[in-house]
Amino acid sequence: MLDGKIAIRSLLPDELAGELRAMGEPAYRAQQVFSWLSRGVGGFGEMTNLPRQLREKLAERYYLAAPVVLRKQVSRRDGTIKYLWELADGNAVETVVMRYHHGNTVCISTQVGCRQGCAFCASTIGGLVRQLEPYEMLEEVMFSQLDSGLRISNIVLMGIGEPLDNFDNVMKFLKLVNCPRGMDIGMRHISLSTCGLTERFDKLGELNLQLTLSVSLHAPDDETRSQIMPANRGRGVEQLMDACERYYAATGRRISFEYAMIDGVNDSDGQARLLAAHAKRVAAHVNLIPLNHVEESRFEPTPPERLQRFKGLLERAGVNVTVRRSLGGDIDASCGQLRKKAAAGRA
Ligand code: SAH
Repeated sequence: MLDGKIAIRSLLPDELAGELRAMGEPAYRAQQVFSWLSRGVGGFGEMTNLPRQLREKLAERYYLAAPVVLRKQVSRRDGTIKYLWELADGNAVETVVMRYHHGNTVCISTQVGCRQGCAFCASTIGGLVRQLEPYEMLEEVMFSQLDSGLRISNIVLMGIGEPLDNFDNVMKFLKLVNCPRGMDIGMRHISLSTCGLTERFDKLGELNLQLTLSVSLHAPDDETRSQIMPANRGRGVEQLMDACERYYAATGRRISFEYAMIDGVNDSDGQARLLAAHAKRVAAHVNLIPLNHVEESRFEPTPPERLQRFKGLLERAGVNVTVRRSLGGDIDASCGQLRKKAAAGRA
C-alpha cells in the first residue's frame, strides 16, 4: 500500500534519529525532520531547511502524504465536525471534533471496521477490514486540528474499532501523540474505550499510563450482556469486574463505565442495582448514554423518565453518575454512529 516504504510519521524521535544516523546525517537533522512532520507537512519537498539530496533520499525510503478529506460535515446544532478521511489504500474512516467548555476533543477511529459485533453499533456492520497504523491515528488528530483550526486538547479512542484489538499500534500512537516536541497531548487528556477484552487489561495496567480507561459495559448481567455484546461470551461480567479491579489497583486510575440506555433491554430497576454494585466495587464513574439511532438496529432508546429513574437509583446507591450529552446527532456523529466507508463511495 505504501510501495514498501516505511510511514515516517509512525517513527518516534529516537527511531528517526537512528534512521538518519544510519544514513550518515548529523544529529540535528532528525530534530528538523520531526519538527516538520509535527507541523503536518504533506511531502519532503516542503522541508525547506534540508539539502535537496537528503529530501530526495528520504522520499525514496519513506512514505509521507497529507490525508485527503473525502467529506466534512459540520453540525448546525453544536458545531461538532465530522471528517471522512481517505487512507492510502482506498479505505476511509471517520473522526469527530467536539467543542466542550473544557477544551476541544477529537474522537478517533482505531481500526477500519470492527469485529466485536455489538448489536446496537454501526461501526461493526461489515466487520473488520484492517488495523489502523500508528501514523494514521496520529494524522486523524493532527489534520483534524489543522483543518478545523481548533486546538485539540483531549483525545478519546471512541471512534470506529476496538483499541485493545489493535494493541501495539495503539500504544505506539499514544507515545507519538504524547511527544513533547510533537502534539504533546498528556495521557490524562486521553480516554481509551474498550468493549472489555479482559485478557489485555493486565498488560495495559503494567504500562501504568495515566489515561482514562472507559469500559463499555451496557449491561450488568451475563444474560443481557452476552445477548447484545458478543465480546462478553466466553469472558463474562465477573471476569470483567476482576480485570477492572486489578487495573484500578495497578494504576490508581478510576475507571469509567459507559452504559447506553436501551428501552426494555438494560434499563430495569434490578439492573440499576446490579450496576451500582459493580460500580462501587471498582469505584467506577458511570456515564449513561441515551441510545443513538442506528438505521440497521432494532433497539430504541430508553424514555427520558425511565432514564432519570435509573440514574436516581444509581445516585441513591452512592454511585457517581452523569448522562452524556449527545453531540453531532444531526450529522450522525454521535456514539455508535460512525462507520467505515470505501473511498469509492466518494460523494
Ligand atoms: N470498541 C470500543 C470503542 C468504541 S467507543 C468500545 O466498545 O468501547 C464507542 C462507544 O459508543 C462505546 O461505548 C459503544 O458501546 C457506544 N455505542 C455504540 N453504539 C451506540 C449507540 N447506538 N448509542 C449509544 N452508544 C453507542
